Amino acid sequence: MIKCFVCGKKKEDYEVWWNKLVIGITYDSKFQNNDTVRRMTDKSMMCHACIKTIENIVREDNSADLV
Ligand SMILES: [Zn+2]
Repeated sequence: MIKCFVCGKKKEDYEVWWNKLVIGITYDSKFQNNDTVRRMTDKSMMCHACIKTIENIVREDNSADLV
């Protein structure tokens, strides 16, 4: 079991994303600049639920920019 860096919940290996993978799959610079994402170290892991949460936050930020 691996602990998610964001929510602290214990997750199975296949439920988490390594930092480098998170950066690699998201070419969105706003996602990569998110405070939580920036706090990740090379060894940090984030679960899929937390990635989705951050994606939603980033998307709301993007739409706020358009207003
Ligand atoms: Zn999590």
